[in-house]
Amino acid sequence: MTSINSEPKASSPPSLSLLPKGIAGMDSLTELALDLRWSWNHATDKVWRVLDPGLWEATHNPLVVLQTISRERIENSLADPGFRETLDFLVARNRTAAKAPSWFGSKHAEGPLRTIAYFSMEFMLSEALPIYSGGLGNVAGDQLKAASDLGVPVIGVGLLYQQGYFRQAIARDGSQQALYPYNDPGQLPISPLRHANGEWLRLEIALPGYSVWLRAWEVRVGRAKLYLLDSNDAANFPAHRGITSELYGGGPELRLKQELLLGIGGWRLLRALGIQPEICHLNEGHAAFAVLERASDTMVSKSLPFEKALALTRVGNLFTTHTAVPAGFDRFAPALIEPYLGSYARNKLGISLRDLLALGRANPNDSGEPFNMAYLAIRGSGAVNGVSRLHGQVSRRLFAPLFPGRREEDVPIGHVTNGVHMPTWDSDRSDALWTEACGKDRWLGTTEDLAGSIRQVSDEKLWGLRVESRKCLVEFTRKRLALQLAVSGAPPAEVEEAKHLFHPDALTLGFARRFAAYKRPNLLLRDPERLLRILTDTARPVQLILAGKAHPQDHDGQALILEWMKFLRRPEARPHVIFLSDYDMRLTEHLVQGVDVWINTPKRPWEASGTSGMKVLVNGGLNLSELDGWWAEAYAPEVGWALGDGLEHGDDPGLDGREADALYGLLEREVVPEYYARNGNGIPVAWTGRIRESMARLTPEFSANRTVREYTERYYLPAAEAYLAGSSHA
Ligand SMILES: *Cc1c(COP(=O)(O)O)cnc(C)c1O
Repeated sequence: MTSINSEPKASSPPSLSLLPKGIAGMDSLTELALDLRWSWNHATDKVWRVLDPGLWEATHNPLVVLQTISRERIENSLADPGFRETLDFLVARNRTAAKAPSWFGSKHAEGPLRTIAYFSMEFMLSEALPIYSGGLGNVAGDQLKAASDLGVPVIGVGLLYQQGYFRQAIARDGSQQALYPYNDPGQLPISPLRHANGEWLRLEIALPGYSVWLRAWEVRVGRAKLYLLDSNDAANFPAHRGITSELYGGGPELRLKQELLLGIGGWRLLRALGIQPEICHLNEGHAAFAVLERASDTMVSKSLPFEKALALTRVGNLFTTHTAVPAGFDRFAPALIEPYLGSYARNKLGISLRDLLALGRANPNDSGEPFNMAYLAIRGSGAVNGVSRLHGQVSRRLFAPLFPGRREEDVPIGHVTNGVHMPTWDSDRSDALWTEACGKDRWLGTTEDLAGSIRQVSDEKLWGLRVESRKCLVEFTRKRLALQLAVSGAPPAEVEEAKHLFHPDALTLGFARRFAAYKRPNLLLRDPERLLRILTDTARPVQLILAGKAHPQDHDGQALILEWMKFLRRPEARPHVIFLSDYDMRLTEHLVQGVDVWINTPKRPWEASGTSGMKVLVNGGLNLSELDGWWAEAYAPEVGWALGDGLEHGDDPGLDGREADALYGLLEREVVPEYYARNGNGIPVAWTGRIRESMARLTPEFSANRTVREYTERYYLPAAEAYLAGSSHA
């Protein structure tokens, strides 16, 4: 550990040295660029667009814009009174928002809760900070943003990956290529954390035989903060500089190292910052080592043995599990744990390695059983929850072995259904519609009265939103596909053709997700001829946009992508199906804003929650999904369409055939006819009625606003009270 003699704080980012100096107004631009509030408050976009429209469009990274353009251009913009006024207004508004009264402040300021440390392996906040892969990061990022909106004092803790998750290209032959572009930290919207004397805050973490230096960074997310650690410190051995290079890359040993840095390093970082959270929230088991380090802290401060310290701190730990099948948990061979944690167990925790391993085993006496991070998280947490109602049930079953003698329904695992941060995923157009109906501050407090207001919106307005949004998506899709084809070396004629594909008024389906077997990305392709008939009906055409990555080690997943690529190259399919490469947050944004129907076909009960379908709600998109995860509790006939019978079918070989048949049937008999059934004004009133019901009932319910309020009132507050009561007696 570095010695900490004064309170550290975020300093200017290294990139500041690349920014032009001595320009009045530059500080305001930098302040705006470094607060990720711009990732959901799109009023700021126009500032970056004025400075360099092309660069902004290509990167969506304000810092890159500021670093790249000429001093003259910045000066000229700042000399324009209109620009200056906008800038000053936005900076003032951010500062006001940072101090404005909040839901938490007005409701719970007197309570015991001061700080929640939220640990996650990934955070999806913006494409300008590519340290995420998918759903798990989405949950973390959206909840951090909602915590900022609501004034809930959450601090995120994560890792800064030099390469993040792999980026995807599709080769000419349709195969997936994995790319690893380097994220220059000097160009990310982050700042080094420095001590008051200017020294960079670095942590020294012991690994077998040597130690690793971690650098600390700060990300501002409105009112909330996210701290990141990375190992690319020049003082490290070359082998260690890359520990944090890739998210979900490498083998078990690298994963273990990353999880040690996240859990133990993350907790030490909080200590170095003088932060003593009442609540430690583990977003999935990856960060479960934080439980050990937190207990170790209390052993020292209260002179307690490990068991007592753990008993005291565990009531302040909350574990959220996101996994629906045993194979999904991180498990490590005991022989791998030993070199990394043997001496930590003995010297820091005063327990044997066997005792430590027992915390991660269902059967403590089985020396062959691997060390399960979720088990450690459960044993170390006072409360555990799944991420949808169904997933709560599934988790009680999965973790029943840890609670011998209890009936499954009495296993102490609850659920908080995920939600998404609506201001991040809504389009300008839907934002305007919602603002007119429900006001500007609709996501800053309770949302129970939004339904009534949105039900007042007319069919014309709802349909107008859909028409414009779809058009916008079709334009985006053409441009992006043309670029993607050109980059892959496609002949000019093909690139040119891409610029005219699709029709702005045709029913547009979206299917984007990880290409993992359980998501069954090829269910829709099970009977290619039947799919073709649906797509190519000349009176009622349908178009489909696909996107998704398969993990570079998942060859089955990659084969599924290839299958789609082969299909969409058939001349009949070509005008109706597009696969967009490199599914990321920005692509999601466009898709969820523009599609009419979002399709999701996981195999029940494998999808713990799923969040992508929630992102279409605010934009008037509808869901057609398997009754799994969130949709199992959200579905009603008035709001969308359901697939499956709401039961589990294990390995039943007939299941996929039956469900594919049902999927085609729904499209043929319900979805397509309803979309094309128009009244005298060209409006599909049954469809807009469904949109209205979906928006009114589901958008508030599946917002991160509701999720974070639920975590706060049902978990954080009672746990903080229990933790503080326990601590004061110890
Ligand atoms: C929302 C989102 C996800 C999560 O999607 P699900 O398939 O619903 O789990 C994954 N990746 C990206 C890029 C997303 O935006």
